[in-house]
Amino acid sequence: MTEVQQIREARAAGDVPLWTHPEWLQRFPWLLQGTTGRGDEEEPFDLGLFRGQNVRVVHDRWRELLVFSGGQTAVHARQAHGIDLLVHERPYPRGLFVGERVDAHVTRVPGLVVTVAAADCVPVFIVDPVHRAVAVAHSGWRGTAAGMTERVVETMVMRMGSDPAALHLHAGPAICGECYEVSPDVHRAVSPEEPIPAGPAPVDLRAAIQRRAVAAGVPAEQVTASSCCTRCGPPDFFSHRAGSTGRQVGLVMIREAA
Ligand SMILES: [Zn+2]
Repeated sequence: MTEVQQIREARAAGDVPLWTHPEWLQRFPWLLQGTTGRGDEEEPFDLGLFRGQNVRVVHDRWRELLVFSGGQTAVHARQAHGIDLLVHERPYPRGLFVGERVDAHVTRVPGLVVTVAAADCVPVFIVDPVHRAVAVAHSGWRGTAAGMTERVVETMVMRMGSDPAALHLHAGPAICGECYEVSPDVHRAVSPEEPIPAGPAPVDLRAAIQRRAVAAGVPAEQVTASSCCTRCGPPDFFSHRAGSTGRQVGLVMIREAA
């Protein structure tokens, strides 16, 4: 079994609560990567577009996020717990672009902030520093079981010319392997190679994603997982299982000036 390499996100400077991979920040100066959090304001920094939130307030937060990123367009989609993805090959008009029924985005267009929403599910980030291509995926148990990570790696190989051996993958803030109790069926779907428990038991989605990434050819030493659990802490993120309707977003962008 692969040893899980854990890192702790660090909060970026500025008003927007963005938690970034500290090693990637050093290693990839051309990249913006992170997961938004609840923030310190009385009203949490909820970016959910489809959960009955006040549209104007949420759109203002997206605008704030886009200004903070320095990018041109924030790309998002209504998610479907599937493995359909979009490859974005050209710039869009400034602002927020929202697609339909897509759970991952791949691009090498600078200034495009590709995003997924999550609140316990895993935001997965994949970076190809050789071709300067990036991807972000929403991977809950259904997406993980259906091979979301493998699908993104394969798409980067086919469409971006990526070599899996050059890819770096990070599984961001999500529900941890102690908090996420699921049925034996879900265990079997997520980690068919692991022993299947007799009854409900917790599963570690990020460990499953790491194993799947390594099986797809990503070197284990280039795979990390966040130590943050959306459910048991630190209290910086939204958790669906803890009763929150709020959503954080995982984002990546290739900086234009780089
Ligand atoms: Zn936990």
